[in-house]
Amino acid sequence: MELRRLDLVLVTPLATATGTHRNRPVVLVRVETDDGGGDGECAALEKPKYTVEYADGAETVLAERLIPLLFGRAGRAAELGTAREARARLDVVPGNAMAKAALEMALLDAELRSRGRSLAAQIGVTRPRIPAGATVGLGAVSSVVAAARAAVEAGYKRVKLKIAPGRDVGPLVAVRRELPDATIVADANGSYDLSNPAHRAALLAIDSLGLAAIEQPLAARDLAGSARLVAELATPVILDESIDSPDTLEAALAVGACSGVAVKPARLGGIAAAVRVHDRCVGAGVHLSIGGMLEAGLGRAAAIAVGALDGFDLPGDLGASDRYFRPDITGPHELVDGELRVPTGPGLGVEIDREVVAAAAVRCRVFRPS
Ligand code: MG
Repeated sequence: MELRRLDLVLVTPLATATGTHRNRPVVLVRVETDDGGGDGECAALEKPKYTVEYADGAETVLAERLIPLLFGRAGRAAELGTAREARARLDVVPGNAMAKAALEMALLDAELRSRGRSLAAQIGVTRPRIPAGATVGLGAVSSVVAAARAAVEAGYKRVKLKIAPGRDVGPLVAVRRELPDATIVADANGSYDLSNPAHRAALLAIDSLGLAAIEQPLAARDLAGSARLVAELATPVILDESIDSPDTLEAALAVGACSGVAVKPARLGGIAAAVRVHDRCVGAGVHLSIGGMLEAGLGRAAAIAVGALDGFDLPGDLGASDRYFRPDITGPHELVDGELRVPTGPGLGVEIDREVVAAAAVRCRVFRPS
């Protein structure tokens, strides 16, 4: 196995309620098995803000715990089994969903490539394309309006506006006035507190704007508060940070804490977990939206395939490569009539551009069986 660290820079910095993303460190996992090779991308961000995981930590956990676990006690690359079996072995390590998801992705890529099968076909996707979404960060009202308008003019089917207390109703009203027919979602990244009267008043004002959804208004652990909002607001309440595993989804469903879920395979611990969450949400009659983690081309390919499952009824976060990286680490995901093509090649369905990876790599560690 190879663990390669890349330091990418976002085309446009993204300001959210929990901080501004400028750099996009990427940890790539490459696995070579008897059947062939595969690649996975770790979605952990630069700093432990969106969730507790972060790129440096994920890289360390992969190197010191997860990869040695797969090599086994004797340090031999013995029977890995299927990607699913290998992934299950990682559960003795608590947390670290994104690091585990990267390994699962690499193993699954190798397994599917050896069978000439695409991830989309493997999980039962039939849609050839998904609607693309654009995310606009916090900023001055005029620049938020301009960015939202540019996204709609480029063909994006949905615009997500990042909001935070005090930076919410003003820009949302301005964007709504400028783009009366656009599908708009507001994402608060957990920054509101129902015990604060000003926050509460803002949420009620936002509810009158005809948004497609409000995402993660309250702190990730405040499922009771979120349930109150589901009951009070006409706007669907989507949970993102709150849902970090199929188990937390059960806890949220039990108290009616969400009208929908933003599914991010990496945050849930991998593709198999994401498919389970999708299936459970369909059974529970909960909306589904595919989320983005500012992934580079490989992680985005996997997310697009998952987001093409039939239950996804709300447009998601995923956009074209050139919105985020120029160049991307794979062939680009391009916008076609406001949609993204579901990759259909073997494995994750895209090929890594080794030149781009080599240019962005800052270190590489190789792990071999003894
Ligand atoms: Mg979100």
